[in-house]
Amino acid sequence: MATPLQFQSIKLYPRLTTGRYNRWRVGFVLSTQAVFFLLPWIDWQGRQAVRFDFSSMRGYLFGLTLLPGDLIYLAGTLILCALGLFLWTALAGRLWCGFSCPQTVYSQIMLWIERWIEGPPNARRKLDAAPWRLSKLGRKGLTQGVMIAFSLATGWTLVGYFTPVRELAPRLLNGAPGQWEAMFALGYAGFTWLLGGHLRESVCKHMCPYARFQSAMFDADTLLVTYDAERGEPRGSLRRQAGGACIDCGICVQVCPTGIDIRQGLQYECIGCAACIDACDQVMDKIGQPRGLIRLDRLAPAAQAEAKPLWRRPRVAVYSGSMSVLVLLMVWGLAVREPFRVDVLRDRAVMARETDDGLIENLYTLRIQNTRPQARRYALKVQGEGVVRTDLRQPLLAPADGTASVQLAVAADPSILARGSHRLTFELVDLSEPQHRVSEPGRLLMP
Ligand code: SF4
Ligand code: SF4
Repeated sequence: MATPLQFQSIKLYPRLTTGRYNRWRVGFVLSTQAVFFLLPWIDWQGRQAVRFDFSSMRGYLFGLTLLPGDLIYLAGTLILCALGLFLWTALAGRLWCGFSCPQTVYSQIMLWIERWIEGPPNARRKLDAAPWRLSKLGRKGLTQGVMIAFSLATGWTLVGYFTPVRELAPRLLNGAPGQWEAMFALGYAGFTWLLGGHLRESVCKHMCPYARFQSAMFDADTLLVTYDAERGEPRGSLRRQAGGACIDCGICVQVCPTGIDIRQGLQYECIGCAACIDACDQVMDKIGQPRGLIRLDRLAPAAQAEAKPLWRRPRVAVYSGSMSVLVLLMVWGLAVREPFRVDVLRDRAVMARETDDGLIENLYTLRIQNTRPQARRYALKVQGEGVVRTDLRQPLLAPADGTASVQLAVAADPSILARGSHRLTFELVDLSEPQHRVSEPGRLLMP
């Protein structure tokens, strides 16, 4: 009987395959997980190479330090990822789903754990049907224990992208993580365990919105997992010799993680994992027929023999053109970006005040954000009509990879300026690298 966890689906016991696509899938699973688990432990110039620190509002990407004003690059990266996914889908259908989507990758790892502890599909089916005895409890408990341990490792690693991972490890092991760290680590671990360990293909079939609209990105030359009905039909067992190449062994269905029969044509449940291709190729090898009864093929009818070159496929051209423009803009933006930023905040508590020598003074706070790994000293120039002098209350010094707030008074001559608000320009120059300078506008109030 279906359980609520299985979204009314029958529990599937897909057979594992071997073959060239399986090797690719294993390679993708291992390489994506190696990157995910190892990246937070890599150091770069004396600090964690990749970390997004909410407390200091800074992001570190190897040699690059990102400040809140750089959110545009985050938006650009997200758009780039979306366009990359669209391009990949236009070229190769749902191969992203079958090979590198985190849902597929985690489901595959959980399936390996299940198979390692509970055995091949038939043994697992038997174990599930057996009454709850001590041996079943032990095996099921061990499976869930290993799955939960793996899920906790994913949660811990994810949080390690947002907090120094080397400090997080001892804190988690001592049972003293911060509140939000524990919450995020457990939340992500819970999702990994639930979605990868239990819901699995139901997520692809019933929850993933991408499955519903990805066909809108296909064109006639998109590569899809396809059954060659012309060659395969009429199907029949080896003994019956119905005429087609398909011997109706059903292995392509048994290996399918979503439980569909690709011989019934393109279906939205197909995640493009190509397990059925590997399985059918092995059957063809055994019966001495050429491989490729199920294969990656274009959507175009056979009559349209020639595939169009990539630049003549409008979707491919639009996606790749937009990606190239975006990459160029981002690289250019990062190349001309100054290594420090300054915000000018007018002191709103004091409107303006008169000095002993009859000038009108406005107070400001300069917030200097230094992204260099060394402390930096700056020179300041304030320009504006009627400005007579500037009076710095502290030295213009920002700590290494940190922020400094400096109080400043700007005095202007009231005999030159009319009442009202007047434009100022604050220019800061890095004294160690004078080619780096930042200008920020401000206003001076004359009462
Ligand atoms: S694996 Fe190949 S031969 Fe066997 S049923 Fe599927 S398509 Fe037919
Ligand atoms: S039909 Fe083939 S490619 Fe599609 S999900 Fe099933 S096994 Fe994977």
